[in-house]
Amino acid sequence: MPRQTAIASIASFLLVSTTAVVSIWLVRPPPTVGESAPATVFSSARAMQHVRIIAERPHPVGSDEHDRVRDYLVRVLGDLGAEPKVQQSESWNVWTNQPLTLQNIVGRINGTEPGTAVLLMCHYDSVPAGPGAGDDAAGVAAVLESVRALRAGSPLRNDVIVLITDGEEGGLLGASAFVDEHPWIHDVGFVLNFDARGNGGPAMLVETSDGNGRLIAEFARAAPHPMATSFAVDVYKLLPNDGDFTILRAAGKQGLYFAFFKGLRFYHSDQDTVENLDERTVQHFGSYCLSLARHFGNLKLDDLQGPDAVFFNLIGTILVTYPLSWVMPLTVGITILFLLVYALGLKRRKLTLAGIGGGLLTFLLCLVAAPAVVTGLWLLVRMLPHVGRSISRGDVASGDAFSIGFAAIAVAVFGAIHGWAGQKISLQNRTAGALVMWLILAVASCIVAPRGNYFFVWSLVFSLVGLAQLFAVENIDTAPLSRVLTVVVLAVPGIMLMAPSTYLIAATVGTSLCGIPAASTVATLGLLMPLVDWWLAPRRWLAPMLAAFVGFGAIAVGVLTV
Ligand SMILES: [Zn+2]
Repeated sequence: MPRQTAIASIASFLLVSTTAVVSIWLVRPPPTVGESAPATVFSSARAMQHVRIIAERPHPVGSDEHDRVRDYLVRVLGDLGAEPKVQQSESWNVWTNQPLTLQNIVGRINGTEPGTAVLLMCHYDSVPAGPGAGDDAAGVAAVLESVRALRAGSPLRNDVIVLITDGEEGGLLGASAFVDEHPWIHDVGFVLNFDARGNGGPAMLVETSDGNGRLIAEFARAAPHPMATSFAVDVYKLLPNDGDFTILRAAGKQGLYFAFFKGLRFYHSDQDTVENLDERTVQHFGSYCLSLARHFGNLKLDDLQGPDAVFFNLIGTILVTYPLSWVMPLTVGITILFLLVYALGLKRRKLTLAGIGGGLLTFLLCLVAAPAVVTGLWLLVRMLPHVGRSISRGDVASGDAFSIGFAAIAVAVFGAIHGWAGQKISLQNRTAGALVMWLILAVASCIVAPRGNYFFVWSLVFSLVGLAQLFAVENIDTAPLSRVLTVVVLAVPGIMLMAPSTYLIAATVGTSLCGIPAASTVATLGLLMPLVDWWLAPRRWLAPMLAAFVGFGAIAVGVLTV
């Protein structure tokens, strides 16, 4: 292999894979904080003591365990000086189909300028099937430990209301009762809600009130480990599942709702135990609850509403944010850049319309084939009795190994298809074809899911410039090395955006829906198109075979450790 091709091939592979691994590694909760931490600090170790007591056994509404947990929470809040009361409301028990008296636990800490309050909200009932360590003892513990730390610090300007709702699992009954019947609802100026759909991973901002630009700016300023994507706000609106915050939001309240998703198989099951709960995730919850209660507790809460924002993480917890109104001009701008680059390519005869069409078809083939292959593999693997038995909610214990395996298989399928198509269609044309799909996604998202538009616009900027560079790299061995390395470096931003998101998608949807992260993996590879032929240069089948080897290895690890 010529020297320059070897340099480009190895350097780009190392840079891309390192960027992917590091950016995925950075999507994690903060480290735990021990019991000896100062009193004004949130300690996950102290919070876990509450989780242990609350999540000893299942405690659905109407059960003796429920009453035990209620009494414990009232006692703890009383000891913290929050003067708890039980708000009773007549309702219906969906588990036993009988009348039920709901019992919300409500407490209050007065601020120095009483009036508008910050509401800390979580729920204490579990489903009958499991002890609910994640859902939602983790949220309750985060609120209790935060209230303790708040009391240990200097008083806040605003009141803080604690609302530990009842009957959330039966249809958000407690939150509705608070909104409909409790006089303090009129005092609430800002809501922080904590709930769960798993047993670990990062806690993320998943829902906000409308007009969230100011909230997001304050959130980015105050939270020590902000993890959020405005795309989730759009997705959350499309999904049928709601949380308590949905009720407060519908009542016109401003606020932020945090949840964690990793470990779908533990959700609402007998495996949602203290032992299975990741303490770092509780620390992440607490880092939000305490920092934001302090921050918003000292803000004037009457003018929080503003223009909506787009927001997302870059390199771990760096939160990028800009107004939603920028989405349309950015999309128009990227479309113009797209047309200019393609016109340049056609003029210089680096691109042809037939070639771009062929490139688009090749990319679409990858987008269909990779999810089909990994889904087929999963259907085979799940026929193994011990794997089949371990599936819960479409998720398995060794989900991470399967995720890595399926991602590598998607890479192999993509590489194999391009190895074949590369004999007929030039790299420039295949790159241009893949980016047509990205432009379609950018324009479609601008209309359908504008809060997710950032993926497409920002990834596309760098890839389009990369494509323009590629026009000048006719023969990699004679092109200036600086030009070749520019193409390599331009691939980095796209993978920084897409790799952590693909990981979070895989962790959220569970192993059975492995076709979705596989499609996301292929989409990411579409951004890396300028590099693909360099990786395939040594031997057309070598890179796909190596990827398949890694893929089957990881799947084997998954099967053996399930
Ligand atoms: Zn819940």
